[in-house]
Amino acid sequence: MTAALELHQVSKVYGEGPTEVRALWQVDLSVEHGELVAIMGPSGSGKSTLLTIAGSLEDPTSGEVLVGGSDLFSMSRDDRARLRCRSIGYVFQDFNLLAGLTAVENVALPLELDGVGVRAARAAGMAALEELGIADRAAHYPDELSGGERQRAAIARAVVGDRYLLLADEPTGALDSVNSEVVMRRLRAACQRGVAGVVVTHNAQLASWADRVVFLRDGRVVDQTSPSSLEATYSGAIP
Ligand code: ADP
Ligand code: MG
Repeated sequence: MTAALELHQVSKVYGEGPTEVRALWQVDLSVEHGELVAIMGPSGSGKSTLLTIAGSLEDPTSGEVLVGGSDLFSMSRDDRARLRCRSIGYVFQDFNLLAGLTAVENVALPLELDGVGVRAARAAGMAALEELGIADRAAHYPDELSGGERQRAAIARAVVGDRYLLLADEPTGALDSVNSEVVMRRLRAACQRGVAGVVVTHNAQLASWADRVVFLRDGRVVDQTSPSSLEATYSGAIP
């Protein structure tokens, strides 16, 4: 079966000469349908770069990125935009909610862009907000929401309609432990329905929800492990 996401020898280099930064270096990664992969690594190790390239938001310097077997960077810009809109749910580190839309309008937007009717899209949006415990905030605008509520609305927007590939950059950074668990449970549930998920987290306990943990350091994959051995290694070491 074709993997949902494949990175082959992906490198991303910023700058030139003495200021050159190898944000990613020859990274290979494959994520199957139904699999949830956690990415861990110190700040600056390339986690966000990996996600933005996998989400087709940025081009790699070299290497190949395949989503559902299609090479992202050999398709036209239009095809890529279509694939991104249809198939990829993305949770940005800084949420990126549209200020002029309410929480439920933000969440319903990807479905509406996909041609789902307004009423059905709103209903799905409400259901997603409800699962994340913020249905009562649906009619509020982003600037009327707390950081944690904004984060949960951004997650609802990414999971609504079960995209094909779900990419989440530190989706629980603004949340307490109870709501972090709610979010990981929701990502896990999406993967159980066949979605492929990649989630960046600093928290080993949350990473233990994943099927596999990939460690990055200085832009390279340095280790891949199952979450059970992770808990054994890190229990107590990370708050
Ligand atoms: P992480 O998400 O793991 O903290 P990033 O992927 O954001 O790491 O960054 C990896 C490295 O690439 C860092 O050294 C960062 O400074 C550098 N970097 C990221 N984006 C850019 C950019 N647009 N221009 C120059 N350097 C960048
Ligand atoms: Mg980052």
